[in-house]
Amino acid sequence: MIARAPAAYQVHIETFGCQMNEYDTELVRSLLKARGFAFTEDRERADVVLMNTCAIREHAHNKVYGHLATLKTIKKQRNLVVGVLGCMAQNLKQELMDQASIVDVLAGPDAYRKLPDLLTRAIEAQEQGLTAKGLAVDLSEYETYEDILPQRAEGLNAWIAVMRGCDNFCTFCVVPYTRGRERSRDPQGIIREAEHLAAHGHKQVTLLGQNVNSYRYDGWDFARLITAVAEVPGIARVRFTSPHPKDFPPALLDAVADHPKICKHIHLPLQSGNDRILRLMDRTYSRTEYLALVEEIRRRSQNIALTTDVICGFPTETEEEFLDTYRTVQEVGYHQVFVFVYSERKNTIAGRKYPDDVPDAIKSDRATRLVERQKLIALRKNQALIGAAVEVLVEGDAKKSSSQWMGHTDSNVTVVWEKEGSRARVGEKVPIYVTHASVTTLFGRPAIAL
Ligand code: SF4
Repeated sequence: MIARAPAAYQVHIETFGCQMNEYDTELVRSLLKARGFAFTEDRERADVVLMNTCAIREHAHNKVYGHLATLKTIKKQRNLVVGVLGCMAQNLKQELMDQASIVDVLAGPDAYRKLPDLLTRAIEAQEQGLTAKGLAVDLSEYETYEDILPQRAEGLNAWIAVMRGCDNFCTFCVVPYTRGRERSRDPQGIIREAEHLAAHGHKQVTLLGQNVNSYRYDGWDFARLITAVAEVPGIARVRFTSPHPKDFPPALLDAVADHPKICKHIHLPLQSGNDRILRLMDRTYSRTEYLALVEEIRRRSQNIALTTDVICGFPTETEEEFLDTYRTVQEVGYHQVFVFVYSERKNTIAGRKYPDDVPDAIKSDRATRLVERQKLIALRKNQALIGAAVEVLVEGDAKKSSSQWMGHTDSNVTVVWEKEGSRARVGEKVPIYVTHASVTTLFGRPAIAL
């Protein structure tokens, strides 16, 4: 029998990785709250520490192991239940549940409904001086948590997961193994969730999915869904991430270009600009096809900002093949490029088939050159806006000073301006006259009108 009511048990959750993990943490909070658990931001006061993990990047993976080492010390001094959730839980179950490990509970992304019971059992055992390890890692073809309203933080921004899983099996990626097959949610439930968000003051909604634009449900596609969400009264802006370049039919490009509430920003993961590497990655498009899509987007609107992901040092990548990526980045002229060095992920196709043979120093050198090039491109793009007025959604205080406002343009560029002389209020869209610019930020002052 559990010695204290669950409400007396304080849960601390740490989230690593992507926005989908942030969203899943909100789902987990909702599931635990319904069973009476309470939450704390202070790990030192927690009875339960949960880590919602990411298996895609080595950095996030190493960080989790670092935190586990710290928790081991705490666990020697007092009762503490440790749980690992998310993609690492799914991918490394044996390793994490090893007898010597301090992990009590593992729950994969499709098994969060079982978490309250697993935690309750682990707490009960610990109260009696015992250990009860619990594991729930079954992948589901159907689980979308349709009926769970995530426990969200206050604020302007909110996420809605519209689909889960991925069927693409890019060879470097662990997601299809950790999050299972693609499945989409009922559009009516998504629209109701957007209405609920609008009623609670959330103005900007990001539609999420591992492969968000492959959304399909009963005759609905992603273009229809995003348009329907944008039509919800009270929602000022709709964004989406992360799409795959293979799923951009004309209707979706038209929706982004034409609908005033759908943000003029497309994250279009390139991964490589070389056809041989793209084939090894099994990305299903060539450089030429990717560039044709970029042209299609720009033909519809020059205002749509493009951002991308690139991997440097995929197995067997030569200098000349890397330069194809470098040249593609220059040619497209992205607003932002997220550059990653390749790290072999356990249980992926690339991990099994291709030796990780590009030396670390070469991978890092390629990544650095790309980052430096991109900084110049971004700076020029931002400087080109000096003297123009941009529309900004006011989101709150600037990070560096509470005497400044911060917001984003439709194309997702950060804008900062002095509060003094500005009548802006959080949640409003205001015109800002750009006076100077850095690689990442526009600075300005209130403009009369756009
Ligand atoms: S589309 Fe490729 S990179 Fe994206 S989640 Fe699916 S397998 Fe991973």
